[in-house]
Amino acid sequence: MKVLKFGGTSVGSPQRMNEVSNLICNDGEQKLVVLSAMAGTTNTLVEIAKYYSKGENGNAVAVIDRLHDAYSQHVANLYGTVTYRQNAQDFIDRKFEHLRSFGNIRFTEKEEKEILAQGELLSTFMMTSLLCEKGVNAALIPALEFMRTDINGEPDMSYIQKNIAKHIDTDSDIQIYITQGFICRNINGDIDNLQRGGSDYSASIIGAVLHAEEIQIWTDIDGMHNNDPRIVNNTQPVRHLLFDEAAELAYFGAKILHPTCVLPAKNAGIPVRLLNTMQPDAPGTLIDNETDHGKIKAVAAKDNITVINIKSSRMLLAYGFLRKVFEIFEAHKTPIDMICTSEVGVSMSIDNPQNLDAILNELKELGTVSVETNMCIICVVGDMKWNNVGFESRVMDALSDIPIHMISYGGSSYNISFLIKEDDKKRALQRLSDTIFRK
Ligand code: ADP
Ligand code: ASP
Ligand code: MG
Repeated sequence: MKVLKFGGTSVGSPQRMNEVSNLICNDGEQKLVVLSAMAGTTNTLVEIAKYYSKGENGNAVAVIDRLHDAYSQHVANLYGTVTYRQNAQDFIDRKFEHLRSFGNIRFTEKEEKEILAQGELLSTFMMTSLLCEKGVNAALIPALEFMRTDINGEPDMSYIQKNIAKHIDTDSDIQIYITQGFICRNINGDIDNLQRGGSDYSASIIGAVLHAEEIQIWTDIDGMHNNDPRIVNNTQPVRHLLFDEAAELAYFGAKILHPTCVLPAKNAGIPVRLLNTMQPDAPGTLIDNETDHGKIKAVAAKDNITVINIKSSRMLLAYGFLRKVFEIFEAHKTPIDMICTSEVGVSMSIDNPQNLDAILNELKELGTVSVETNMCIICVVGDMKWNNVGFESRVMDALSDIPIHMISYGGSSYNISFLIKEDDKKRALQRLSDTIFRK
C-alpha cells in the first residue's frame, strides 16, 4: 500500500479538493491518504486561540464567523447532491459551534491544541464525503485514535502501529483510507500536534508503521529544488536525494519537508517521493538510500540563528571544558546546531533563544561570553565525503565576498554549513545557485 500526503494548498479550495479526489482514485489501488487542513486554516485557528488566550472572546468569535462563512461557501461548491451538501454543512456547523464554546471555559494550552486540530478534522471529513458522493469506497480513520506521542514528545511507534492496524483491512474492498495529518494525542491522552507543517511527519510515521511500498508527499511544487524558490531565481528540481541529504535540507530550512519527516521513512527503508498536485505527471524528487557520488545537490538556509562565543584560556590543554558547556545547554533544553572550537574559544549556534539569558549567566562562569543575533545558517548538501576533492573550494569561491562567521564541515559527509548575517542571506543563496548549479 502507498501512503500519500496532500498539503494545505493541494486541498486549499473546492476545485483543488476535487482534483485530489480524482487523482487518488485514478489507478484503483488501495491507498492511505493523509490530509492537511485547507491552506490558511491553521493560521486562522492560531489567531482564534490567541484571542481566546487574551480573553478577547469577541475578536475570537468574529474570526470564527468569517471562517465559518468561508467553509459554508466551500461546502456549497464542493458537493453535487443535496444530501451530501447538507450532511457536510451539519458537520461544519457543529465544528464551528464547538469553536465558539471555548469562550465559556478556562483557556489553557490544552484548549489551544484542540482548536488547532479542527482544520484537519474539517478537511478530512469533507474529502471522505466527496469520495463517497462519487461512489468511491472510502473510510475515514480518526488520527486521534492511533497517533500518539510518548513521554518525550516523540511518536510512540509501537502504539501507533498497533492502533492504526485496528482500522485497516488490506483484504477489504475499501479503496481509500483517509486520515488527518498533524494531529495526535500526547502521553496524557490530550489532543496535541506534531508541530506546524507536521502532516509530512504524520505521513512518514504512518508509512513506516504500515511498511508502505512508498510515501508520497504531494505539494505545490515539482519536488525539492536546488535552492529556496521563494528567495532565489532559476531554481531547478533535484530528481534524486539520499535520505540523509533530504534530512539536512529539511532541517536547514527547505520548507517543502518538515524537519523530522525523513527519519521514520529512513529507519524503515521506505522511499519518499515529492510530487506536484498541480502537475501530477512531473517526475518530482525520489528520496531513498542510493548515493549519487560526488554531486552537490542543493542549498538551504535557516534564519533567526543566535551565536554564542566563549573565550577562555582555561580551555588551553584542558579536558572537560566542553562537557561543562554542553551540560549548561542540556540543563536548559536548548539544542546546539553548529559548533566550532579552537584551543581558546568555542562558538555555538542555537535557533531557540528562549532560555538564552539563563544560559549566558551560567556560561559566564566559564569564560568571556559574547552573543550575536539575526544570523543565518547556509547549508550546502550533497555527497561530500572528505576524500571527494574540490567541493569545498567551489563553495568557498561562490561566497568569496560574503563575511562568514563560522564554517562547519566534517560532522557529516553530506553537508558544509556557513554562518553568515541574515542580511547577506539572499546574496549568498543567489551566488551559490549561480556558481554551483549554473548549467
Ligand atoms: P504544503 O502545504 O503542501 O505542506 P509547504 O508550503 O509546506 O507545502 O511546502 C511547499 C513550499 O516549500 C513550496 O511552495 C516552496 O515555496 C517551499 N520551499 C522552500 N524551499 C524549497 C525547496 N528547496 N524546494 C522546493 N520547495 C521549497
Ligand atoms: N495544518 C498544519 C499547519 O498548517 C499542518 C500541515 O499543514 O502540515 O501547520
Ligand atoms: Mg508543509
